[in-house]
Amino acid sequence: MPKLYLKKRRERPVTGGHPWIFSGAIEKTEENTASDPVVDVLDHQGRWLARGLYNPKSQIRVRLLTWEKEAIDAAFFSRRIAAAASLRQRLVSPLTNAYRVVNGEGDLLPGVIVDRYADYLVCQFYTAGIDALKSFFIEALAAELKPKGIYERSEGGVRDEEGLPPAVGVVHGEEPPEPIEIEESGHRFLVDIRGGQKTGFFLDQRDNRALIAALAPGMTILNCFAYTGGFSVYASKAGAKRVVSLDSSRPALDLAGRNLELNGLAAGESDLIRGDAFSFLKNFDEAVDMIVLDPPSLAHRRGDVEAAAGGYKFLNLHGLKVLPRGGLLLTFCCSQHVTVDLFQKIVFGAAVDARRKVQILKRLGPAPDHPVSLHQPEGEYLKGLLLRVLE
Ligand code: SAH
Repeated sequence: MPKLYLKKRRERPVTGGHPWIFSGAIEKTEENTASDPVVDVLDHQGRWLARGLYNPKSQIRVRLLTWEKEAIDAAFFSRRIAAAASLRQRLVSPLTNAYRVVNGEGDLLPGVIVDRYADYLVCQFYTAGIDALKSFFIEALAAELKPKGIYERSEGGVRDEEGLPPAVGVVHGEEPPEPIEIEESGHRFLVDIRGGQKTGFFLDQRDNRALIAALAPGMTILNCFAYTGGFSVYASKAGAKRVVSLDSSRPALDLAGRNLELNGLAAGESDLIRGDAFSFLKNFDEAVDMIVLDPPSLAHRRGDVEAAAGGYKFLNLHGLKVLPRGGLLLTFCCSQHVTVDLFQKIVFGAAVDARRKVQILKRLGPAPDHPVSLHQPEGEYLKGLLLRVLE
C-alpha cells in the first residue's frame, strides 16, 4: 500500500479523529501505480496513523476511513454499513420506512450518502476515492440491507470539484417505481428519486415535521420553500386551519398537491403558490399565525457567506414583520458555512430591523439518522430556530 507522510506537527487533526487531510499538511507521497486509491498515512517520522482514500485532484487529498490496520474491501464496508443500519433500527420508528442509512463522515464513511425509500436505496458518491471503490460498497449494501433495488444519484457540485462526471441510474436489482411511495409515522409521501432535490426527500427534517404537527392545530400557516409539502402535510393533517405552500418549482408543488391528496387532505388552487419567496414575502400582508422558512443553501462556498447572510436576514426580517404578536417563525439554514452562532446573529439582526421582540422556543437540527462526527464539525449543516414574536 502506498505511504503518505505528513509534515512535522501536522498529525494532530488525524490523531484527533478528523477525517480530512488537506494538501498543505502533506510532506511527500509514494507513487501509487495501482488504480486503488487506498493509502496509509504516517507522521513525519514514519509512524503509522491511519488509512484512507487519496485523490490528487482535490484540496482534500485524503479522506480517512479507519484508524486501524484493516483491509478496505467489501467486508470492511459490510461492517460499517451494518453498524450504521443497526443504529437506524433503534432510532427510527417501525412506522417509518424512509430514512438515511449512511451519512458520510458521520458514519465513518466519507463521501457517501445512502437513503432508504421503502424497499429501495438511493446512494450518492461524492468523492473520487469512494467512487473508485463503489462496486465493493454496493455489493456490501445489497448483501447487508437486501433492498429490491439500488439507484445511484451521484451528481452535483462536490463531484465537479473532485473531477468526477455524473453517474445516475440503477446499480443493483430492480428499477424503482416512479414515484416511490413512502410512509413517515402515518404520513404518506410520493418521492421522485430521479428528478427531485438531493435524493428526493428531505429526510433530515423529519423531527421538525413532527414539531410543526404539534403546533399546527387551528393555525393559519405560510410554508415558504415548501418543496413537495413535507411541513404542509404534517400541519394540515394535525388540524391547521389553512396551510399555504409556496415554492418556485412547479413539479415540486404538483407533488405537494398529490401528497396532500394521498393523506386525505384537500389542496385548493390558492393553497399551492408558485413564486419567488423573497419577493412574495416582501409584499405579503395577510394574517398568518406561523411562517416556515426553509430555503435551499444560500452559501455553497465560504466566500458566499456574506451575501448569503443578507438573504437569510431578508427572509427572516420580512417573516417577523408580518407575524402578529404570539406568531411563530420556524426558520432554517442548511448551509454548512453558516454556523449555528452566525445564523442566530443573522436572525437577531432581522428582529432588530423588523422592530420586533422575539423569544427562542427551541433550537433545531437534523433528525438523528443524520449523525455528525464530533471530530468534524464542518459536517454540521442543518440548523433551525422556533421563534415566537412577543411584541
Ligand atoms: N421544506 C422542504 C425542503 C425545502 S428545499 C421540505 O421540508 O421538504 C428548498 C426548496 O426551495 C426547493 O423546493 C426549491 O424549489 C425552493 N426554492 C428555491 N429557491 C426559491 C425561491 N427563490 N423562492 C421559492 N422557492 C424556492
